[in-house]
Amino acid sequence: MDNAEAKTGKSRQIDDAMITQAIEMIAASPFAKRDPGPNIVNLLRHWHARHRIRYAPPLIDSNERGTCINTDDSKEITVNEEYRGNLKVTVPTLVHEGTHATWRHKFSSDREAALCRAGEDEYLAQVNEVTVYKWLRDEKGYPKDFELELRLKRFEEGTLRAIVMANITGKDDPHCPVGSPVHKQPQ
Ligand SMILES: [Zn+2]
Repeated sequence: MDNAEAKTGKSRQIDDAMITQAIEMIAASPFAKRDPGPNIVNLLRHWHARHRIRYAPPLIDSNERGTCINTDDSKEITVNEEYRGNLKVTVPTLVHEGTHATWRHKFSSDREAALCRAGEDEYLAQVNEVTVYKWLRDEKGYPKDFELELRLKRFEEGTLRAIVMANITGKDDPHCPVGSPVHKQPQ
């Protein structure tokens, strides 16, 4: 192992430790006590143990906080490397991407249905993310996060689902069946 490799190994260890800390924080939150929290925590622990979660450059746009790939050949969650070491963003992002990871394999091949599922998937990811965010903010003294404040406000006002469905399907009124079991308020 040369010096550069040793350094890479070392920074990977630091990243892994940060991701472990973020997952354990989620596991300690009220979110982890009730469905779908336990599933998501299990998935994150399982994937992390297999080195499938890492900080990485964004794939599509630089504002993106995380990505999730979950196909038969490839399983990976990334957190934008800009947030390396930043638990305030890492924790909600892992909840968001972990939610996607529990759903994505269920997509339909019918395009309309697939868009509805994608909208529902994104809605659920945002609901879970703001649930944990609210706990971090109110119980853990974490500073406000502008983007998550906006999502939380929409959720509390009951407009989040319609906004997300319209964004993902490209239609103001996409007539998607209500397919998500989650209508819980964050607490
Ligand atoms: Zn998402």
